[in-house]
Amino acid sequence: MSSEHVVVPDAAEEIVLRGIGASPGIAIGKVLLLEKDGIVVEERGVDNPAVELERLQKAIDRSNYELEKIYHTAREKIGDEKARIFEAQLLILSDPVFLEEVKKKIVKSRKNAEFVVSTEFSKQVEQLKRSGNELFKQRAMEIDDSKNRILRNLAEAKLKSRFEGTPIVVTSEFTPADAVLLSRNQVLGYVSDYGGARSHASILSRSLGIPAVVGLKEATKHVKDGVDLILDGYRGIIVINPSEGTLKKFRDRKQWCEQLDTELMTEAGKPALTTDGRRVSVEANIELLEELPLLRPHGADGIGLFRTEPLIIDSDSIPDEMEQADIFRQAVEAVEPNAVIFRTFDIGGDKMFVGNHSEQNPFLGWRGIRMMLDRPDLLREQFRAILRTSAFGKCKIMYPMVATDEEVIRANEFLEEAKKSLDAEEVKYDKNIEVGVMIEIPSAALMSKEIARHVGFLSIGTNDLTQYLLAVDRTNELVAHMFEEFHPAVLRTIKFVIDAGHDAGVKVAMCGEMAGNPLATVMLLGMGLDEFSAVSSMLPVLKKIIRSTNYKSARKFARQLLKMESVDEIKKSLSDYLKTRFERIYFTTLSEGDIE
Ligand code: PEP
Ligand code: MG
Repeated sequence: MSSEHVVVPDAAEEIVLRGIGASPGIAIGKVLLLEKDGIVVEERGVDNPAVELERLQKAIDRSNYELEKIYHTAREKIGDEKARIFEAQLLILSDPVFLEEVKKKIVKSRKNAEFVVSTEFSKQVEQLKRSGNELFKQRAMEIDDSKNRILRNLAEAKLKSRFEGTPIVVTSEFTPADAVLLSRNQVLGYVSDYGGARSHASILSRSLGIPAVVGLKEATKHVKDGVDLILDGYRGIIVINPSEGTLKKFRDRKQWCEQLDTELMTEAGKPALTTDGRRVSVEANIELLEELPLLRPHGADGIGLFRTEPLIIDSDSIPDEMEQADIFRQAVEAVEPNAVIFRTFDIGGDKMFVGNHSEQNPFLGWRGIRMMLDRPDLLREQFRAILRTSAFGKCKIMYPMVATDEEVIRANEFLEEAKKSLDAEEVKYDKNIEVGVMIEIPSAALMSKEIARHVGFLSIGTNDLTQYLLAVDRTNELVAHMFEEFHPAVLRTIKFVIDAGHDAGVKVAMCGEMAGNPLATVMLLGMGLDEFSAVSSMLPVLKKIIRSTNYKSARKFARQLLKMESVDEIKKSLSDYLKTRFERIYFTTLSEGDIE
């Protein structure tokens, strides 16, 4: 055979892609590509709209039937609470106002059902996506999923959800329904181009114990069915076509991670007490009731941040006092005798009234406590709900986006009014309920001593504090690389707030993402932070670090860090510290960007 006839296949190239670790764990297996972008919608004129209305109704009925089935499977596998995610989609499919609107459009425009469904649903999706808010984006995804479900059923196409083998499923975007349906097979992991760690689908994969990496942007472009893939849900990376060497490295790492996980979970119930006796509190941030069952096994000393705004966004309407109280009571019962810190609605601007309200700079606009003070009806109702809940377990109240002490004084006045109204109705509540303020705006940080005089605790929100201190929009990908919570200005501000709070005699907590970053734990401990509040999956790690640390040494280390002037120097010191003392935690929990 002459050489020009020899075809040498390219050795498949190893490709590493970085995304967001949405569910911990390592999976090594073969790809199953789930293609979703196949629905092409044509615009057609129709002579008889009645036929279209009938087709549409049939497709909606079929979609409802499918979703009911998914809902049922979800309840069996992950319990009633988590399965509620599907109620939202069932509601979309039975929303009489919206569906009537779609039907009217079919009759009026004399266009095919596919076209009208696609146009009307997409309008809503786009509007929600534009809001820039993570929760609205999630809602947008649910509507988009309902749209695709109806379109598929209009085309009378079957849903592909059963397959052979034990693949890692790769797709453009995972819906909660995908997570549940596909888990009926032996799925090793989920990989997607879009999505965030806080999406419902990601939360479900965590509950189902299926490792996942999302937000990879172009994963579907780089893989084919049957290709070898490694998924690292701890660090948020995937490796396509891994070499033998890489495979061996990840097989070892998988074993290592699983051992560490088991060890940490066994010790999670122990208190966060340093080797020289300083006790701090390690609490959970939650925003969905589905997360409640994770709290005790992960050793949460309470809930340090209950984000209440998803209650509005997830339900299309604002839940009234009794509905809120019902939900809050479940949280209190899940952690009693520990406390739950309920943060009043942190919504604002276009995020609240999608469609009829927009602002040039929503992050600098009508948000958090500003909006609530302008809507005392909402604030009073929420206060009354939290107060009612306080009769059943320990509750605290926290105000978000506070810029001045006057806002705190005014909110406290509304709280007193709410108490009086309950007194008049002889409703029981905790008369000494504690109130706190989030420190997440630079003006509040600088005035934290004065603000602390009006409250019982402060809680530092590093997500917003970093964004406002560095003037970097936390949702803008163009400047994402400049969002740096280890910037010396941020660290010095945190220390300032902790000291100011202590001077005023109140405890200082942190509930921004930094509190859950193992790289920051010893430093924050050394700065004197009293309470850490983070996603529950990180709590066992934080507790392990705290329990193995000497408070005096941590203080010394923090003092050195606070003198440093560059991010690189700070991160290198933190990284070296963690690597030498907590090698396994360092390699398993840190994202690639944090390690060399
Ligand atoms: C923060 O800003 O750090 C915070 C915890 O609040 P959110 O992320 O909900 O704005
Ligand atoms: Mg915030």
